[in-house]
Amino acid sequence: MEETPPCLPAKTDLAIIGAGPHALTLVTHLLQKRQTMWGKFLVFDKSGRWMSRWQNQFAALEIPHLRSPAVHHPDPNPFALRKFAESRPHEFFPPYDLPGTRLFDDFCQDVIRRYSLQQQVIPLGVTRIEPLPHLFRPRLRLWLQDGKSIIARRVVLATGSSKLQLPNWVNQITSGYPEHKLCHSSSVDLRRLCLTGERVLIVGGGLTSGHLAVGAISRGAKVDLMIRRHLQEKLFDAEPGWLGPKYLKGFFAEQDYQKRFATILQARNGGSMTPAMGMQLRREVRSGNLRINENCQVVMAQWMGEKWRVQCSDGSQHEYSRIWLSTGTKFDVTSEALLQEVLEVYPIKIVNGLPVLDEYLRVPGCELFLMGGLAALQVGPTARNLSGARMASEKIVPAIVKPSMALSQLRSA
Ligand SMILES: Cc1cc2nc3c(=O)[nH]c(=O)nc-3n(C[C@H](O)[C@H](O)[C@H](O)COP(=O)(O)OP(=O)(O)OC[C@H]3O[C@@H](n4cnc5c(N)ncnc54)[C@H](O)[C@@H]3O)c2cc1C
Repeated sequence: MEETPPCLPAKTDLAIIGAGPHALTLVTHLLQKRQTMWGKFLVFDKSGRWMSRWQNQFAALEIPHLRSPAVHHPDPNPFALRKFAESRPHEFFPPYDLPGTRLFDDFCQDVIRRYSLQQQVIPLGVTRIEPLPHLFRPRLRLWLQDGKSIIARRVVLATGSSKLQLPNWVNQITSGYPEHKLCHSSSVDLRRLCLTGERVLIVGGGLTSGHLAVGAISRGAKVDLMIRRHLQEKLFDAEPGWLGPKYLKGFFAEQDYQKRFATILQARNGGSMTPAMGMQLRREVRSGNLRINENCQVVMAQWMGEKWRVQCSDGSQHEYSRIWLSTGTKFDVTSEALLQEVLEVYPIKIVNGLPVLDEYLRVPGCELFLMGGLAALQVGPTARNLSGARMASEKIVPAIVKPSMALSQLRSA
């Protein structure tokens, strides 16, 4: 049921766009530092709920547990999830006690309740951020999905904004085809599918490919997994050294942002599976349900009316009933529609799509803060992850709670 948006004030001190894990982490850190901020901020998300996209993604791919260990979550106390789960030890998964999906969701709901945030999400999307420049009191006007607007002194963008990465051959398909026969992993919902007798091609070597392959096989499909490199097995997206000074010290000392960008790419090193998923896939290979084609790419795909005919870089040709592109997402500030007007008024250095923000993750000169993958040049390779949400919050919160950090104060000083 659609919720009716509440009557909004004309102005707010702080507006947060998005109600995912990053926004939730920011809010808990903010309230922990300054309880008086309660009621002084507004959170916008079309869904009207906290964590809606996160929950949908985990449900659609039937992901049983997180990839990140139990210290990563939206509560400021790293041990809070452990404490919450004292009576649920069986909901942690090996090898490093990874929290189960249900446990993590219940914990986040507990965080939301403890901080009295249940009613805080306004069920409206933000459609436009209009800068209102002023020498001493610059503001940002947020235009909302219902056509109304609100003026904010500070804004945090926590929309998880990323653009889908699609291989080039997709744009070269000339014939029309049903949308669900070729789609990005983010629009696959395993729960609705029966795949008996189908052969599915999954492109990409990340953990999402693994979840999709396991899900498709359990629904009766035979699967080909095509990976342009070899199948990489890693426990985490990036090495744990990226969570602290071990690697971050050198990263922050680097003043050449091109080099920082290259380091981020290298640290994440494309998609990888967990060793546990690798083992599960090898079992499916032995059972004859899965083929893994490494060092191979699609060269061309043609929709033949009922099936795809696919030519591969190793010269082979195959037929598939559907293709899923598990080719990831890319963070690019220039393709984020919400930011365009801000970037026109406050031009900013951009390195391969990533903005160079100030130390508080602000667009320089403007009270607009960015969280998630877009803040990677200032947060490091795990910026998009739960650990990145904590690191970003630790940078943003001081600028929000200390009036001396406000740009208007700095300007008039
Ligand atoms: C399948 C999957 C599994 C993952 N597992 C892990 C893991 O185990 N550990 C880990 O650390 N990381 C994991 N990640 C990476 C990362 O933690 C998640 O992607 C996480 O959801 C990012 O949080 P977020 O708050 O930035 O974005 P999101 O969860 O995407 O939330 C953003 C919210 O913003 C809202 N929004 C978007 N645009 C607007 C707008 N214009 N106006 C208002 N609201 C808007 C959306 O509705 C959404 O609710 C995973 C990612 C995926 C895809």
